[in-house]
Amino acid sequence: MPPMTNMDQIYPGLIQKNIPLAPFTSFQIGGPADLYAEPKRPEELEALVTEAVKNGIPYYILGGGSNTLFSDKGFRGLVIRPQFKAIAVTATADGNSITAEAGALLSQVIRTAAKHDLSGMEVWIGLPGTVGGAVRGNAGAGGKEIKDFLSSATIFDLKQQKIVEYSNADLEFDYRHSTLKDKPHLIVLSATFRFEKKLSAEEQRVLMQHTLAQRHATQPKGHSAGCAFKNEIDPRTHIAYSAGKLIDECGLKGTRIGGIEVSNIHGNFLQNVGTPDQPATQQDVLDVIALIKKTVKEKKNIDLHEEVQIIRERE
Ligand SMILES: Cc1cc2nc3c(=O)[nH]c(=O)nc-3n(C[C@H](O)[C@H](O)[C@H](O)COP(=O)(O)OP(=O)(O)OC[C@H]3O[C@@H](n4cnc5c(N)ncnc54)[C@H](O)[C@@H]3O)c2cc1C
Repeated sequence: MPPMTNMDQIYPGLIQKNIPLAPFTSFQIGGPADLYAEPKRPEELEALVTEAVKNGIPYYILGGGSNTLFSDKGFRGLVIRPQFKAIAVTATADGNSITAEAGALLSQVIRTAAKHDLSGMEVWIGLPGTVGGAVRGNAGAGGKEIKDFLSSATIFDLKQQKIVEYSNADLEFDYRHSTLKDKPHLIVLSATFRFEKKLSAEEQRVLMQHTLAQRHATQPKGHSAGCAFKNEIDPRTHIAYSAGKLIDECGLKGTRIGGIEVSNIHGNFLQNVGTPDQPATQQDVLDVIALIKKTVKEKKNIDLHEEVQIIRERE
């Protein structure tokens, strides 16, 4: 792999070598990245991806790692974990906005909003990950998604080598989808969200407590990537199916392969129950995923689709 010497000269020390990825993911699975960087400013990220592409080096933008499954062999390329995290509140003509940089945690955005009596996102408390990851995947919970709040996103377009302002419509949001999923050359630098002043900080605090209690009661603790599969809508009948319920009805809860177990609390959560003697591997997750898809197809005639982003081994 070319050494990216240009980057070493411009930003000495920014690129590290052979960094284990498991600690940066909620699954706690993943071998080392050949190259790894934590840019503190958007300009550093722009320079890193540009130089990587120039040298033919694959890159991966890692947010909170709460929806990513890396290979045990790691990543033969450059993993970039944005560390720009500023959050700014602005009063606007039609309400109030918060602009948050890509590396900011969504939970920090929610808490900042609440502090300013700006409501709506409080139902997401407990949803892990960063602004960048949430925008790309149109994350959501409690009947609301990123698309219900986002007014614009500042994107670095690697192909065009320029920063472009994307509107909500430009991002073509759909259930757990945005156009960014089809265009990896578009990287979120920041996003602006619109809020309403409906609930006070205190009202939101009570709601958040309730939401967190709900999450704790219905979702397992421990290491996972949240829901492994998307919920499905049958194209013929337009009936919506909860993937977790389908998995449960197929009797798959508690199924274990290697160090991965289908949670007994929530069928859509695949839990890392590995031990030092038998650590969970990416292959264990892939095997459980394959078993679930096959069983649900056979018993329910429904095709499940993965929500978790699987980064397979690159030689
Ligand atoms: C316990 C638990 C509960 C969860 N509950 C929910 C839930 O209720 N609702 C829900 O929607 N999800 C949920 N998730 C899944 C996950 O938290 C979300 O998908 C989250 O939005 C992922 O954000 P992240 O920063 O961790 O993304 P990562 O896993 O780091 O990355 C996900 C994808 O986004 C890309 N990406 C990251 N940053 C950028 C950027 N700046 N620009 C472009 N692409 C980028 C990555 O390359 C990758 O393809 C849960 C996960 C866990 C572990």
